[in-house]
Amino acid sequence: MAKTRRRAPVAQINMVVMTAIVYYLYFGIAFNGGGLVPGAGADWGGFVAALVPTTAALLVYLAWFVFQAVLERMLPGRSVQGMPLPDGSTLSYRINGLLAMAVSLLAVTAGHVAGWFSLAWLHAHFGAMLTVITLFSFALSLFIWWWGLNYPGGPSKRSGSFAREYFYGTALNPRTPPVTGFDWKFFCECRPGLIGWIVLDFAMAAAQYESYGEVSLAMGAVVALQVLYVANNFWNESLLLTTIDIQQERFGWMLVFGDLVLVPMTYCLQAFYLIDNFRDASMLWVGGVVLFNLLGYGIFVTANRQKYRFRRDPDHCTIWGKPAEYMETERGTRLLTSGFWGLARHMNYLGDWMQALSWGLLAGFGSIIPYFYPLWFAFLLLTREQRDDRWCAQKYGADWDRYKQLVKWRILPGVY
Ligand code: NDP
Repeated sequence: MAKTRRRAPVAQINMVVMTAIVYYLYFGIAFNGGGLVPGAGADWGGFVAALVPTTAALLVYLAWFVFQAVLERMLPGRSVQGMPLPDGSTLSYRINGLLAMAVSLLAVTAGHVAGWFSLAWLHAHFGAMLTVITLFSFALSLFIWWWGLNYPGGPSKRSGSFAREYFYGTALNPRTPPVTGFDWKFFCECRPGLIGWIVLDFAMAAAQYESYGEVSLAMGAVVALQVLYVANNFWNESLLLTTIDIQQERFGWMLVFGDLVLVPMTYCLQAFYLIDNFRDASMLWVGGVVLFNLLGYGIFVTANRQKYRFRRDPDHCTIWGKPAEYMETERGTRLLTSGFWGLARHMNYLGDWMQALSWGLLAGFGSIIPYFYPLWFAFLLLTREQRDDRWCAQKYGADWDRYKQLVKWRILPGVY
């Protein structure tokens, strides 16, 4: 009799671990003096009490989510066609994220300055917000799973296991209504979480101002650099359509949780930590780290733009003043071999990571938690690079080996 092999419950384990990590980081920053290992002063009681969801937190989050959806629908924007789907068709996307970000930040800043609300409330109720957003992301993933099964409107996949389908998603591009409607993945990838991250940064700066009557140099630099990062993301919003998330990953818990919980609630931890710490960071240190950040930013933006421009118009694309060099493949798509794409196969990841590291450095060396993001991101990018390498080997076959001989390094030329 044939034996049936039980699959390890990878999806379930991932969901528990990811959720626990986000909660634990909050505990470390807010109730354990920035330490990772619980110390004598760890306030477990305060932590548990802070996590209780409240009606106010729920209303604030629902209002935020709906506000972002309304901005996406109502603000003027252009329509851009996404990359071709397996059947050759393309979907149309609304591009108005930069305006949505500007309106959102202006609205919350104006409300705060006018005294209608205090942004610092978000800092004081961070735990309740965390629980609300986590529950919301679990519920939304359930809806998306069901919707993707019944109205996929394009590529979709069934695995026969609810846990796997819930975790990885069923449809590639769930939309309401299908094909022409509201694109859940593209919306969640950017709007509520990414813009929410910056609002949380503002909240941390406001909390510091309330406590100390000033915003520290390091806090100002972290917030400014993260605003730059997110604004750049929206400045190049159509470029997101070429990313693996949009082109290849189905929309399920993994992306929903990443987009709605992990991004805003952990990427703001440097600012959270800086409220009470490293307020005396020197101008020299902050200035040096900012320069390092800008170098990473330059590599990240330029590498992504080079590939985007090349893919959109390979015949007329110039890179660093010369016609782009490339390799023809049997699959029909060309692989760029000049500019940053001639130095390593993923220098865009390097530039992205340098920025992540610099935000940690701006928080000094008093706690490991501000380094969670660069550490986590290094893991994410390294595994992503390996996954992409496998996918490309499948897509391009022998051409991929040829390409790897032309461009030897994976991420950091001369090292890796
Ligand atoms: P890439 O933009 O690097 O895209 C990889 C794909 O590009 C490959 O699958 C291949 O697809 C194509 N490609 C590979 N090599 C070449 C080449 N030489 N010339 C032309 N096309 C090539 O990867 P990602 O989508 O992972 O990342 C995009 C950006 O998003 C990165 O800067 C990354 O740092 C960032 N990112 C940020 C995250 C965050 O949380 N902040 C998370 C993940 C990514 P094909 O040939 O089929 O088109």
